[in-house]
Amino acid sequence: MKACVLSAPAPIDRRPLKYVEVETPAPAHDEVLVRVRACGVCRTDLHVVEGDLPSRLPAVIPGHQIVGEVSALGSDAGTLALGDRVGIAWLRRTCGACRFCLSGRENLCERAEFNGWSAHGGFAEYIVAPADFVYSLPAGFQDLQAAPLLCGGIIGYRSLHLAGIENWSGARLGIYGFGAAGHVVIQVARARGAEVYVCTRDRARHQALATELGASWVGDARDVPPVRLDASIIFAPAGELVPVALKGLAKGGMLVLGGIHMSPIPSFDYSLVYHERMIRSVANNTRADGREFLAEAARIPVRTHVQTFRLEDANEALMALQHDAIKGAAVLMIDSN
Ligand SMILES: [Zn+2]
Ligand SMILES: [Zn+2]
Repeated sequence: MKACVLSAPAPIDRRPLKYVEVETPAPAHDEVLVRVRACGVCRTDLHVVEGDLPSRLPAVIPGHQIVGEVSALGSDAGTLALGDRVGIAWLRRTCGACRFCLSGRENLCERAEFNGWSAHGGFAEYIVAPADFVYSLPAGFQDLQAAPLLCGGIIGYRSLHLAGIENWSGARLGIYGFGAAGHVVIQVARARGAEVYVCTRDRARHQALATELGASWVGDARDVPPVRLDASIIFAPAGELVPVALKGLAKGGMLVLGGIHMSPIPSFDYSLVYHERMIRSVANNTRADGREFLAEAARIPVRTHVQTFRLEDANEALMALQHDAIKGAAVLMIDSN
């Protein structure tokens, strides 16, 4: 099969992914082989490719927002059938036995594996994945539109959950950084009745899309919104935004850090967290998050904006992502409808 393989992390401008022929994987007893139709491109892929996340394999195929079709089954692959359309996300497998798995927090599993980092991902024509961690996808989403839901969407959903808001109607939510996750989160929050305030640095693309999707106010990344916010989520990997976002929070407000990696957070005055303001990160997701999000996204329905690239152009897609040049989400189109 064809795949984009990373052998040595390097700045994306050096085009570290190589488009090559590799052996098509075979599913183990509890796995399925999936023919990839589309694979979303996420900032985490950029962190893997550039080495912000330390390598877990000598060579790896990135990609963890996969939409495809089951094309072979292991001997014990549960209820899936050949031809089923499925989604595969970042969390590849958990141990099921550690204290986190046993307390409903499998996203924090001590021995978790991740697609596109500790195992080969979806920048390829085929992927194998454990059947228990594969999602069925609502019929309303086409392949390309479904791909960004599988990371930006699911992590965005978990970020909303961790924002700790019980009554969303009239709640004031801030979003810092308006890429794949942000443009899904605003749709979910608006459908729940929240007012959304968006701070993002790309006026042409991101600010226009935020306005189109119903933001109450849109400003630059460092602007302070006109009202105090009940919660904010930072999706940009920029630690300097933490004190900026804290300035915009109401008393008792929650600041959620939605990325897997962030540049150092500068020191700030205690007054920015006093009055019971809170900061917490988001790490991965549980399978329940994924299923709940996909059901809610189908009900709304969420509409993703995608910019497509060919599989062999994965480096270009990641460069565009790094330079804030994507409106919505980037998706590799492999064999999609
Ligand atoms: Zn575990
Ligand atoms: Zn991701």
